[in-house]
Amino acid sequence: MFCDYHIHSTCSGDGLSAMQEQIQASLDKGVGKLCFTEHVDIGIVGDKFDTDLDLYARTFEEAKRAFPKLPLFMGLELGYVRKDVPGLQARCARLPLDFHLLSIHLVNGIDPFDVDIFFNNKSREQAAVEYLQAVLESVREYPDYDAVAHIGYVFKFTGDRFPPLRYEDAPELMDEILKTIIQRGKALELNTSRWNGQGMPGQDVFRRYKELGGELVTLGSDSHRINTVANGFAQATELLKSLGFGYLATYEKRRLVMEKL
Ligand SMILES: [Zn+2]
Ligand SMILES: [Zn+2]
Repeated sequence: MFCDYHIHSTCSGDGLSAMQEQIQASLDKGVGKLCFTEHVDIGIVGDKFDTDLDLYARTFEEAKRAFPKLPLFMGLELGYVRKDVPGLQARCARLPLDFHLLSIHLVNGIDPFDVDIFFNNKSREQAAVEYLQAVLESVREYPDYDAVAHIGYVFKFTGDRFPPLRYEDAPELMDEILKTIIQRGKALELNTSRWNGQGMPGQDVFRRYKELGGELVTLGSDSHRINTVANGFAQATELLKSLGFGYLATYEKRRLVMEKL
């Protein structure tokens, strides 16, 4: 049984499949425990990533009724920007959330998804450092999260121009981030949305996390449509086991529940 703690539905502005379609597709792929993490990204212009929370609550309740036996949980993916912290917390307070997933989509106000803008006149090293500084600020400053999403997002959309982020790109910053996550009892997400034998972050980062004493790992497909649910999960599970992780971290009403890998 897989546990997916990062999945979107059409409640998110960029979601392409309805919640119940996402659930059925996940069940078909062997997912037995599922937590939706719709976007709250107040800083991204145009409201597209600021989920309608009433719609989310209604859609979630309907899904629970349609799949009464499935352990189904409600989370939010919180796009950190320092000035938006009060707004993020206010939104969290409006829902009976199981899980808070902290993420960085904006680096100095720009989403690396906008490759031509973000990477204009920027070296790989500059991009990596700017991004990791934003991640470090988020894990230090955001007061109330359970796990940290997709470290490596900065190079998610750069293809061959810039291969995935590696520990060696900025070991000191990486260590600061990992140590903060560990000291605060938070989890590191293995995101499989760009699975290529490893996910985000890569196995080098998970190896270092383990070395530093990290134990809590969540698994997330970050799927926005039915054809990417549980992407890479079988391989991701084997990878985590090979690195010495025996359990996945899951959250129910914000309480940590460990599930055997
Ligand atoms: Zn994200
Ligand atoms: Zn996501």
